[in-house]
Amino acid sequence: MKSHLIFIGAPGSGKGTQASKLVADKGFKHISTGDLLRAEIAKKSALGIEVKQVMDEGKLVSDDLVIRLLQANIDLNASQYIFDGYPRNLAQAQTLDKEVLKGYPATSVYFEINTTKLVERLTNRRTCKDCGAIYNLISKNPKVIGTCDQCGGTNLVQRADDHEDVIKNRLKVFQETIDPVLKYYQDLGRLMKINAEQAPDEIFKMISSKL
Ligand code: AMP
Repeated sequence: MKSHLIFIGAPGSGKGTQASKLVADKGFKHISTGDLLRAEIAKKSALGIEVKQVMDEGKLVSDDLVIRLLQANIDLNASQYIFDGYPRNLAQAQTLDKEVLKGYPATSVYFEINTTKLVERLTNRRTCKDCGAIYNLISKNPKVIGTCDQCGGTNLVQRADDHEDVIKNRLKVFQETIDPVLKYYQDLGRLMKINAEQAPDEIFKMISSKL
């Protein structure tokens, strides 16, 4: 049975970039709770309306709501997943094991990075509204400015929560909640730490070599 991956890392630590490489090269399916929540906001569903303000402030949405959304969007029999953005706290890590994975193997990958660099990285992040490809105005512009390399879309947008004051709050929330999650996986012998300050290709090689 192939192992699922659980990506843990501060906002902007490169989880989304590595997930898209693993999807393209290794056939994983990427499930990001942040993306699922943003899709609900875009649809203006009741759930989307409920979570918008919390997300705009960089706070965490309730555990109960996120797990229901996650459960509704995965099929562990059909795909090998990368969980991105879930779990965010110890209760979510325990719920993931007990109510979602239920014995399916899953390794967590911790993207270690100095968070002082992340504010600049995130304020310059742009995402393709059509396919989700990630760019950066400083380090990774698309070949044609304003046009997505991957799908040709022309909606390269800044996320509502990628503004400096909200970013600082998101980083604070991450730092306050993540240690027990790391300890949980460490104690179970399921934690792989990677140096997320390396170039994306190096990180990809490192993760791939351990699959
Ligand atoms: P992300 O795209 O992972 O940076 O998530 C964006 C926002 O979505 C977060 O700041 C939270 O408001 C919300 N969110 C995403 N995943 C979770 C989660 N597992 N638990 C609670 N809130 C979440």
